[in-house]
Amino acid sequence: MAFIAKKHESDECRKAASEQDRRMTEESSMIDLGSDAFFMSQALRQAARAYEAEEVPVGAVIVRDGQILARAFNQVELLRDATAHAEMLAMTQAFAALGDWRLNECDLYVTKEPCPMCAGAIVHARLRRVIFGCPDSKAGAAGGLLNLLQHPSLNHRCEITSGILADESLMLLRDFFRHRRESNAANRKLNPAAE
Ligand SMILES: [Zn+2]
Repeated sequence: MAFIAKKHESDECRKAASEQDRRMTEESSMIDLGSDAFFMSQALRQAARAYEAEEVPVGAVIVRDGQILARAFNQVELLRDATAHAEMLAMTQAFAALGDWRLNECDLYVTKEPCPMCAGAIVHARLRRVIFGCPDSKAGAAGGLLNLLQHPSLNHRCEITSGILADESLMLLRDFFRHRRESNAANRKLNPAAE
């Protein structure tokens, strides 16, 4: 009897597992591995790594012919380098991977609209497309504050796609700054002399 009960149980388990397999196969076939959303999700993973390292959570990937050439996250604090933005680090990786400073067949995915420094470097490197998550109306240089990526006087212009996984990118940034404010306030409470 015990054996029969066990067999029945394992049949149930197998049935549940195969149902899960079927659902997972269905779900993964729904994700288009060449889509903007897929590559942005890879940039978001980099942003999450920045968050874990207590860096402003911005991540970037560079893609050529559907292949990811470079992945990077913001490392300004870790490297003590004001230029160590995710886009800059990803571009350096892509130059090395291709052995060329021209990235005109490459697309850059970044979770937040690039700043003027990164946008300037993107134009120098002649990237084909820039795809970003959340806009930055205060300091963005892809149409937020200004548009260096499509400036009529510069010798290269990029195609821009904005708003890909924007909510996820923004939530990560908001969460990061909220936590930072809270821990700064807690530190001030513990050490009022520092004020
Ligand atoms: Zn930047």
